Amino acid sequence: MNQLVQRAYNFNAGPSALPLAVLEKAQQELIDFRGTGMSIMELSHRSAAYEEVHNQAIALLKELLSIPEDYEVLFLQGGASLQFSMIPMNFLTPEQKAGYIMTGSWSEKAFSEAKLFGNPYHVASTKDSQYRGIPQFDELQYNATDAYVHLTSNNTIYGTQWKEFPQIGDIPLIADMSSDILSKPIDVSKFALIYAGAQKNLGPSGVTVVIIRKDMIEKANSSIPTMFKYSTHSKNNSLYNTPPTFGIYMLGEVLNWVKGIGGIYEISKRNEEKAKLIYNAIDQSHGFYSGHAELGSRSLMNITFRLKDEELEKKFLEEAKNEGFIGVNGHRSVGGCRASTYNAVPYETCKAFSDFMLQFQNKNE
Ligand SMILES: *Cc1c(COP(=O)(O)O)cnc(C)c1O
Repeated sequence: MNQLVQRAYNFNAGPSALPLAVLEKAQQELIDFRGTGMSIMELSHRSAAYEEVHNQAIALLKELLSIPEDYEVLFLQGGASLQFSMIPMNFLTPEQKAGYIMTGSWSEKAFSEAKLFGNPYHVASTKDSQYRGIPQFDELQYNATDAYVHLTSNNTIYGTQWKEFPQIGDIPLIADMSSDILSKPIDVSKFALIYAGAQKNLGPSGVTVVIIRKDMIEKANSSIPTMFKYSTHSKNNSLYNTPPTFGIYMLGEVLNWVKGIGGIYEISKRNEEKAKLIYNAIDQSHGFYSGHAELGSRSLMNITFRLKDEELEKKFLEEAKNEGFIGVNGHRSVGGCRASTYNAVPYETCKAFSDFMLQFQNKNE
């Protein structure tokens, strides 16, 4: 569209790339939002113009993810991190147990918060293998009386992802999908609650999406502060207090963009093709690059790999930076390299990076 714009090769893990078309539309609408004479940020959250944006974003998410009728979509604040606390606050009592499937740092953080409210325990953990994989279904040891079981669908830091989700009977299954929501089709009906900070696949930071089955709202603890109750936000269509209006507008536009390019199946296909470029560069390198994740657990969103020693890794990261690749450093807690190939990262960016990987290998092998 605008050839003059120099866009970075953005592999940031979050906040991360947004579709150029969405940014351009936001820019166009910034000063006079649809004839209101003001920006979306200056509108009342009770105005008809804002409400339309808000309700359309909810409707579009329901459509794109085929969310069943008995679920609600909420827009909250506090990030996915606040959900780590809100979930046990709403669903766990001091006598009750909740199962946590431990697949990385985010699961650990979620688990720590649950300890403040009840008795969480590990259903399974892949920590002993440096979180290289996702547990097999037959390793999952949970109790029929658990308040819920929690998992992290995509492990942003370690680069692993659930390919299929377990069926755990009547126990509510709760998932942190912050880093792979809307990247592929999912069967929402398997979950009692899904949550995601928007800043990886859905929009800017500041909005957290919660998809919650209605019976969960009804059975939650009622003796917690108003803002922490899912029921407060549900009763008020996420307009109990002032929502992050600009973030929700951007989220709606990102959803529009996904719909416009063909929806969830098209996005999913593109994500597979993008990740394949980089995984191929790893797999065809004869060990020059080594992937962190086990083959069956590889993430299509965060591709983590190492080089043979830290010195070479440093050189790789430096050259990558000089070539314009942003955000390729691994998370500060684990080191190595990571390319985050979220929905809005273009194929061309991944192609340029896989070409760079090959060139770097040829020069340094
Ligand atoms: C980024 C991330 C979080 C933290 O999200 P915030 O919105 O910053 O609180 C939690 N879980 C996963 C899987 C993430 O990728």
